[in-house]
Amino acid sequence: MNQHINRAFEWVPADLQPWVLIFLIVTAMTAFTLGAWQKLNRLRKAAPDNRFDQPIKRIVTTLRIAFGQKKFMQEPKSGWMHAVIFWGFLILLIRAGEFFVVGLFPQIDSHFPGSAPFILPYLWVKDGAVVAVTAAVLYALYRRLVTKPAHLTLSGEGLLILYLILVIMVSDVLFDAAFLALRPDVEGAATLAALFVPVVSQLGTNFAGHLHSLSYWAHVSAILFFLTLLPRSKHFHILTSIPNVFLSNLNPGSSLHRINFEDNDNDDNDDKTFGVAEIKSFTWKQMLDLHTCTQCGRCDQVCPALATGKPLSPQELTVNLRDHLNSLRDDAEDAVDDSAAVADVDLLGDVVHDETLWACTTCGACESACPVMIEYIDKVIDLRRGLVMTKDRYPQEFVAAFKSLETQSNPWGFPKHSRSDWAAADLGVPVWDKANPTEYLYFVGCNGSFDARGKKISAAVVKTLQRAGVSFSILGNDEGCTGDPARRAGNEYLFDMLARKNAATFQQKGVQKIVTHCPHCLNTLKNEYPEFGAQLEVIHHSELLEKLLADGKLSADKKIGGTVVTHDSCYLGRHNGVYDAPRNVLAAGADKTREVKQSRENGTCCGAGGARFLLEENIGTRMSHHRLDELLAANPDTIATSCPYCVLMLEDAVKAKGLQGKVQVKDIAEFVLEK
Ligand code: SF4
Ligand code: SF4
Repeated sequence: MNQHINRAFEWVPADLQPWVLIFLIVTAMTAFTLGAWQKLNRLRKAAPDNRFDQPIKRIVTTLRIAFGQKKFMQEPKSGWMHAVIFWGFLILLIRAGEFFVVGLFPQIDSHFPGSAPFILPYLWVKDGAVVAVTAAVLYALYRRLVTKPAHLTLSGEGLLILYLILVIMVSDVLFDAAFLALRPDVEGAATLAALFVPVVSQLGTNFAGHLHSLSYWAHVSAILFFLTLLPRSKHFHILTSIPNVFLSNLNPGSSLHRINFEDNDNDDNDDKTFGVAEIKSFTWKQMLDLHTCTQCGRCDQVCPALATGKPLSPQELTVNLRDHLNSLRDDAEDAVDDSAAVADVDLLGDVVHDETLWACTTCGACESACPVMIEYIDKVIDLRRGLVMTKDRYPQEFVAAFKSLETQSNPWGFPKHSRSDWAAADLGVPVWDKANPTEYLYFVGCNGSFDARGKKISAAVVKTLQRAGVSFSILGNDEGCTGDPARRAGNEYLFDMLARKNAATFQQKGVQKIVTHCPHCLNTLKNEYPEFGAQLEVIHHSELLEKLLADGKLSADKKIGGTVVTHDSCYLGRHNGVYDAPRNVLAAGADKTREVKQSRENGTCCGAGGARFLLEENIGTRMSHHRLDELLAANPDTIATSCPYCVLMLEDAVKAKGLQGKVQVKDIAEFVLEK
């Protein structure tokens, strides 16, 4: 048995040393397993969700976002801090292994400073990791205790974890320093620990021996204590983050689960519920999301609802759901027993307030900002489904909207036989003829068919397509609402009805290619209708106009003067990744374009999405005003957008702020037509 191993364990009788370590390991592993099993057992019994498709894409996403820490880097200072701790831990895993190996097998002289020279490069990297992680932890403590950013949650548990990491880093270096002081014959001059050897040697062999023992036991105890804390704290995310990124939704435009009402119609069980009215109704992936929140607050920083004073903090929503999930007790017969511990707590109303759910615009900014790919929109909509379809509780404005959608296929109650009135005879828009189909079906949408401003945008789209010689026609009065507002409002049953009807119309008429100027229609037709059998090629008018301009089939009459600022529609940009097409169209139709800080992936919602355009905004300030203020920072003469609902919201905000005549809001098609 070599000397340094003896010294490392001198606090414990030599023969007992491995057994003491085994006892500590078994105790920690038992505590960890008991804590983790409760969580994993719930996931195991939760509703299914297929997240194992497209493995290559998932691996690439994991490498980029989890191992590359891409999203953390969007906030450089805290991003680097987190990345350094994460990468440092990956490097230090080998070192932790060494500590346990030398403890369990004292006869092996595996201590690195005394080992083969090829170990030295690892020691340099390891030393670098120790220094970097220590600096990052000190910075993290500085942020939590001194600068205290508002979005960051200060918790004793968080501080404890940081102190434990410091103990692991410091004890790592002191263990080697004491060893080198005790064993001058061992080569270790090139390591970080060697810097401390003169000081330790000065204090004598006895001191070095105790320091060696102390740093050893402090190191392994801190690691094992850390392990027991993981399943009992928010730091469980350390284990779930990488899997959560791997299992994330690869298509943000398609995140909502379809409910099979036909199956349920045949179900004799009268107690059948729809949507999520109890936490155990979430899918396993939704539960995994809840365990993965790091409480970094990035989602809160970008949420337009929170910014305008609505009672919605995405971070708080996740934490409340997670705490509620954790508060449930396992039951022998059921995955989750919510009958005893939480009998008086109703998920809908107590844990999550109705106003919180109705405040969400489903803009996706939180999902885009979240460094561990937590999904919000599916949970918000599932909970809204629970409110609407199980609890029969929803805002008054939806009563009329649901009725109108059901009977007139538009949310405002305009007669369905007047849907195509906007396409006055002088526009010359042909109606789809199955015997003589055009290349594209132009899907107009409810806004473009009925809203006074929206109809002007539809006319502009028609004129640009006609000018470019595009073969297109409309469904006329056979067109119906896609069901987007019903689905986002939580009325999945109504959406199901509308989607089936449209899908049947497309099939019956032989429609294959659709162009639409409404990003909400685009998203629903493209990403959600395939589940209803409608496999269509759907493009946004910005994409078609971009192509027509590039092919020389279209040119702008004249460029719009003044400064034009771009506003991204959430459902075109974040949900469908279309950012460049509107900008390329604008490049042809505007003299001078500018961007604000909150654009593209970081764009802020106008407040219309998630069926919010149907609701009054009685709490806080208006999201459209908030967005307009951001856009006004560019001092624009015109705001350009590619969504009729954004035009509606921003024009209202312009009027409310008394800026008519000073700032215009236009759809990109209107730029091409400018005379
Ligand atoms: S989707 Fe948008 S409005 Fe809803 S919580 Fe996320 S950021 Fe807030
Ligand atoms: S949901 Fe994501 S962005 Fe929001 S606090 Fe949790 S980890 Fe951070």
